[in-house]
Amino acid sequence: MTERWQPVIGLELHMRLKTASKMFSGAASAYGGAPNTRACAVDIALPGVLPVLNGGVLKMAVAFGIVINARIAERSVFARKNYFYPDLPKGYQISQYESPIVEDGQLEIALDDGGVKSVGIERAHLEEDAGKSVHGAADGMTGVDLNRAGTPLMEIVSRPQLASAGEAVAYMKKIHSIGCFLGICDGNMQEGSLRCDVNVSLKPAGAKRLGVRAEIKNLNSFRFVERAIRHEIKRQAALLESGGEVAQETRLYDPDLDATRPMRGKEEAEDYRYFPDPDLLPVAIPPSLVDEVRAALPELQEQMRERFVRDYGLSQADAVQLTASPEMAAWFEDCAGACGGGPQLAANWMTGALSAALNHAGIGIADCPLDARRLAGLLDRIADGTLTGNTARKVFDEMWRTGAGADEVIAGKGLAQISDTGELAAVIAEVLANSEKQVAQYRSGKEKVFGYFVGQVMKATQGRANPAEVNRLLKESLEKAD
Ligand code: ADP
Ligand code: MG
Repeated sequence: MTERWQPVIGLELHMRLKTASKMFSGAASAYGGAPNTRACAVDIALPGVLPVLNGGVLKMAVAFGIVINARIAERSVFARKNYFYPDLPKGYQISQYESPIVEDGQLEIALDDGGVKSVGIERAHLEEDAGKSVHGAADGMTGVDLNRAGTPLMEIVSRPQLASAGEAVAYMKKIHSIGCFLGICDGNMQEGSLRCDVNVSLKPAGAKRLGVRAEIKNLNSFRFVERAIRHEIKRQAALLESGGEVAQETRLYDPDLDATRPMRGKEEAEDYRYFPDPDLLPVAIPPSLVDEVRAALPELQEQMRERFVRDYGLSQADAVQLTASPEMAAWFEDCAGACGGGPQLAANWMTGALSAALNHAGIGIADCPLDARRLAGLLDRIADGTLTGNTARKVFDEMWRTGAGADEVIAGKGLAQISDTGELAAVIAEVLANSEKQVAQYRSGKEKVFGYFVGQVMKATQGRANPAEVNRLLKESLEKAD
């Protein structure tokens, strides 16, 4: 049914910019806090107050504009977008309309078939966030929390050039990565640091003209974006197939029902009565500022991934995992740089034991109870032969639990590897003396029982025996006729 119809999708993303203070006031812009403790006179819109632009947000938008190869406006204007809602005490949101700071960029996304697609970005503009209504705050009443009011957002508007839910998610993930690696967004989806409105329409396959679109508001996870789009495509296709028409409207996605429902008819730009904000001067962005930002651009995810493969000799898969976030990448570089065992050993432990422990604890690398130098200390003890793979795991678990250093744990638990020939020979002699049956089997040609002897030695030494030495000494003893 859906093959007859081609989906056309455009995304409007709201990226929360990582600043210390708000966009037009000095109040803290951090997420959360007790209601209305991070809202000053400007944010609660007392009469007579005036907004002052936070210069940091300009540089952030310029950095983003450079990365997407966009035109950066030399003169940009803030406008009032007027609407009435309890969480917006001014009665207007300061946004940009006619002269956004960033226009006409592109972003390349990787497709499932291995190809690459360039997606147009119409504009990116700066605007302030609104407060929040808190339903059921007290006795069935709704309260208003203005902590979020005035926090800086960059709205990024794509062209209607995405053709599937998968492409839309790939595009959104790319924007998320750029925000995180530029250090302009904390990337925290649960806290709403990247929110998405999706616009979806269908057109008959091959047609030029776009169909009527529905907009689904305020999706804050990749999974919801994907599901809402899939659902909306199905809904519109069924409607069109049965001879109906798609209404231009704003819908809400309900994750519990996995369905969208109408919220309101689509407003037009006229409804907002945009006009330049007389309290704010137009912003001039001289080429020197663009050059300054360009010179200070950090490495982005892909460049970092390539460098990890090139300079550390990592596999593509390891490099992908270790550049999942800038925090992860920095942790790896710190660990690999401090570790005598080389970058591959650091990569193995980070993608193995460390990732497993983080997943198990449900935390990210930023909250890791071990620091990178500590893990490097453990890897040094593997590289210099103090620990076997087996005991290293035990030391790791203990370090994770207590935060102690490797040497401290090794000394405390007596976990150092046994390579001493005399000590091992004694253990082996005892094992063989207690395994008469297996020794006879071995000597009659059943060489498979060799593994049994190794296992017994490891058991007797709690995994601390140097495996190569055990092999050598066992062979020697078994070869000896008795
Ligand atoms: P508005 O600001 O009123 O929502 P815009 O024209 O600025 O409208 O477009 C908003 C988003 O909708 C953009 O991301 C754009 O790509 C997308 N869009 C516009 N027309 C369509 C369409 N027919 N089908 C799908 N997406 C569309
Ligand atoms: Mg819109």
